[in-house]
Amino acid sequence: MEYFEEERVRRLLRIEDLIPAMRQVLAEFSAGKWQQPLRGVLAQHGGFFGVMPASGDSMGIKMVTFYPGNTKTKLPTHMAVIALFDPATGEPLALMDGRYITEMRTAAVSAVATDALAAPDANVLALLGAGVQAHAHLVMLPHVRRFDEIRVWNHHPEKAQHFAEQHRIKAMDLEAAVRDADVIVTATSAREPILKGEWLKPGAHVNAVGASRPDWRELDDDAMRNVVIVDSYEGARNEAGDVILSGVTPFAELGEILNGSKRVESGTTTIFKSLGMAVEDVAAAKLVYDAARRTGDGLPSGR
Ligand code: NDP
Repeated sequence: MEYFEEERVRRLLRIEDLIPAMRQVLAEFSAGKWQQPLRGVLAQHGGFFGVMPASGDSMGIKMVTFYPGNTKTKLPTHMAVIALFDPATGEPLALMDGRYITEMRTAAVSAVATDALAAPDANVLALLGAGVQAHAHLVMLPHVRRFDEIRVWNHHPEKAQHFAEQHRIKAMDLEAAVRDADVIVTATSAREPILKGEWLKPGAHVNAVGASRPDWRELDDDAMRNVVIVDSYEGARNEAGDVILSGVTPFAELGEILNGSKRVESGTTTIFKSLGMAVEDVAAAKLVYDAARRTGDGLPSGR
């Protein structure tokens, strides 16, 4: 069985392939073409250990850890391993470091949501949070919209300032960053709402990426009263504090919008509540595995 360390995954995973692959797998998921049980999560020593299997065109499992306290160490807060199998024979094919796939597939899914739901002329982006996901979204979202202004806010302002200088964007106060923004990304480990609905410009689109626990929030009830799109109804019902505690009923899965079975009027203020799904990890891991075959990267010559 082949092993893919993070450097090899980074060489092989291309944004140009990842965004269309996420679009396709989300549409297939909502059309019932994949099996994916609810993520199993064990709470452990202040962290979480998630087990995420999926089977469809490809088959595999991600084992992911989320340790918010790692910000005080050199380790990232999210780390993962993905095992890929051949769905036709059951043969184990590869074991991959899943940290970078988790980082990039999440932002690629937000790019797909933004492309489907944000105004075509959206040109102001606000990033709330200045960690791994904020950076991945900064890289990914310009693939689907042309932003003239990008803003960042962080609960520790010096970190936002540093992030802004590094990427030549603007660090701003929370409310000022959100007001007039066309696309907002909430990518924090917040447990209480940080984004208020009253600040949202009509027609804005929010990618709500954090708050993946049933009792955690990033968005207040006002924000959640807009049209809410989720990655999976089952995941949202069980894991999304923003959905569960606000009591809203999601309008659609993103895949239903993509495959045309549900439609959102243009000009609607939309919230994409992302939790992350195993189908995304498995489809992204298969892209990496296939790219190794196509390019010969890391393979003995002749294979
Ligand atoms: P990082 O640890 O890299 O970044 C976390 C960010 O949240 C930092 O900017 C941190 O600021 C900030 N933060 C921490 N605590 C708070 C708080 N109480 N209030 C406001 N901001 C806070 O994590 P990631 O960027 O990898 O992940 C961000 C979020 O996205 C997490 O909730 C994570 O679980 C979620 N996620 C979701 C995925 C999905 O598929 N939907 C996939 C991967 C992650 P500072 O460092 O200054 O404390």
